[in-house]
Parts: sequence; structure tokens; C-alpha cells
Amino acid sequence: MKKKSLLITGGAGFIGSNFIPFFLEKYNDYHLINLDALTYAGDLENLKEVEKNLNYSFVKGDIRDQELLFHLFQKYEINGVIHFAAESHVDNSIKNPTIFAETNIIGTLNLLEIARNHWMEQPFVYKEQYVGARFYHISTDEVYGSLGSTGFFTEQTPYAPNSPYSASKTSSDMLVRSYFHTYGMNVVTSNCSNNFGPKQHDEKLIPKLINNAINGRQLPIYGDGKNIRDWLFVEDHCRAIDLVFHEGKAGETYLIGAHNERTTIEITEYICEYLDKVFPKSKSYKEQMQFIKDRPGHDFRYAIDASKIEKELGWKAEISFEVGMVNTINWYIRKYSKMVEEL
Ligand code: NAD
Repeated sequence: MKKKSLLITGGAGFIGSNFIPFFLEKYNDYHLINLDALTYAGDLENLKEVEKNLNYSFVKGDIRDQELLFHLFQKYEINGVIHFAAESHVDNSIKNPTIFAETNIIGTLNLLEIARNHWMEQPFVYKEQYVGARFYHISTDEVYGSLGSTGFFTEQTPYAPNSPYSASKTSSDMLVRSYFHTYGMNVVTSNCSNNFGPKQHDEKLIPKLINNAINGRQLPIYGDGKNIRDWLFVEDHCRAIDLVFHEGKAGETYLIGAHNERTTIEITEYICEYLDKVFPKSKSYKEQMQFIKDRPGHDFRYAIDASKIEKELGWKAEISFEVGMVNTINWYIRKYSKMVEEL
């Protein structure tokens, strides 16, 4: 039987490189083509375990390159897309917003356009061999802006992005939406909360805290550290993506979150207390905590009401915050203590 050809964009990043091994392990009837530009955020080390898998191919390339996308759709007869590729770090978007517009907006538009031309005869009519071909867009809860101390984001919450990053993701969500309404394309979008787990880039909060802690550097905390994020273990997210891709309704949006609201201080203290137990030093790691000037436009709180995906698709986060954190911290201890030894 001919395998289905699924284009994964940004598969060498944090979530993509957790998703690809998970998906290859679960299914044998897909060929995954991972298209990644290998920006500073992509790392093929994270995909070592699948590089020899016959159901996996890697292509180094950019979603802004229309010719390459056209060629890949022809060559592999792509009949599904899961689109992870993005510039994803809010701090970088504050320093250099342009690349966020180029990758997150124009890159997404290119993919939609090439997929539409490859899959469809005309609006609302798919070519026979591409009936069912789906475009799945991975997005963020940051498109909804900031919550006060109560309430939750739902699929009905109006978009209100506050950073150049979330504004660029908002634009891409809107483009995906428009391809459903204008062309009848089989699209689906999910917006998830902050992920945590192995393979995340050193610049992000949890890896950075662990790296700095182990290396005796200060643990920087923006503002008063009371900003709240709703943490989702990346493995739970991968299961949700699988479900939305296969069973989500075309044109719909699903919010994914695990009801794990924590302030930055709570996350930092959790990491310090765990390190104090497993990697003790003469003083507690908490003494390295340092409050620094707040990020401009820093959203106060994100929290997700995931009841739609829970009720309609039967998804539920399975891994508790504590188990996910232990798994995550141990992974980074191994990574960063190896680096310390190698110095
Ligand atoms: P990441 O920054 O770790 O990885 C992004 C990947 O995309 C990298 O491998 C990078 O090389 C690649 N890439 C960047 N620009 C590219 C381009 N122009 N062409 C091809 N590849 C390119 O991101 P992540 O944390 O894995 O996030 C994946 C997706 O999930 C993003 O769309 C992000 O907006 C979304 N998301 C992430 C989180 C989170 O907590 N990490 C939360 C909500 C939503």
C-alpha cells in the first residue's frame, strides 16, 4: 500500500522533534518529510533516533522558498501538512519583528497557496487523488492576549495579540481560516499553552533556568515573577496533535491545555527545590534567583479551557505537572551537566 506523504514543517524544533518520533512509532503508513531551515532554533541532534527510519526524510529548506515548496509537493505527492515552523520566541520578536512576519505570516501563506494549488481543482473541489488532504496549523494561546486573574481562553475568545510574535501567529491563524471559508480547504488549527519537556532550546524559560542554575549563574525573573502560564507537557501535546490531525473537524479550532497554571516564581522555585535534592550544592539554588526589568508588553496570565477537545475528541492530559517536570529537569540535567564536564 502506498504510504501517505505528510509534510512536517519545523520538525527540528522543540515540539516537532518530540512529535516526529512519537508519530513514526505509532504509524507505519505515513512517510514524514521534515522541512526545516535549521535556524538557531532547529537541531538535528534531537532527531537522531529517527534519522535512519525509512518512513522519514529530512529536507533543509525554508518555508519562504516557494519554488522549493512546489518541488517538494510534486516530488513527494504531499497529501497532508502539519505546520510547526515558526519564529517562536517573544523576546526575539521584540528585538526583530520583521523575521516573525516573514516566516510566520508569509511562510504560512506560501504553504497554504502551494497546498491549495497542488490539491484543489477549484474552490471547494479537491482533485480526486487529494480528497481528504489536510492542512494542520499549530498555533498558540498567545493570540488571545492576556487574562486578568480569573477566566479562561476558549475557542470563542476574541483575538487580541500583544507582542509581534503573537501578532504574527494571529495573522497566520487568520490566513488559515480564510482558506477554509474562501477555498473550502480542509484546514484545522490548534492553539496550545506553553509547552515544557525535553529538546527545548536553551533560550526558553525552563531550560534556561536549569542551565543557569547548574552553571552557578543568576536565575533571571522578569518583573515581580507573578505572571502566570498554563503548562502543557509536550508528550500530551503530541497526542493531542495526532488526534486533531486525524479526527478534528475541518475549519475548526481546538484549544489545548492541561490546567497547570503556575507563576514564574513557582516554576523557578520548583526547579531549585528539585535541584537542591538531586544535585545539592553548599547553598540552595534559590539564592541565584534575581528579579530583572520586566519584558515590555508582558502578558499577565494565560489559561486554557480545553473542554472542547476533551469532550469532542476525547483528549485529556495524561501526565501530571510533577511527573512532567521531573522528566524534563532530569533530561536537562543530563544535557547541561555533560556540557559542564566537557568544558
Ligand atoms: P521552535 O522555535 O523550537 O522550532 C521552530 C522550528 O522551525 C525550528 O526547527 C526552526 O529551524 C524552524 N524554522 C524557523 N523558521 C523557519 C523557516 N523559515 N522555514 C523552515 N523552518 C523554519 O518552536 P516550537 O516551540 O517547537 O514551536 C512549534 C510551533 O508551536 C510554533 O508554530 C509555535 O508558534 C507553536 N507553539 C509553541 C509553544 C511552545 O510552548 N513551545 C506554545 C504554543 C505554540
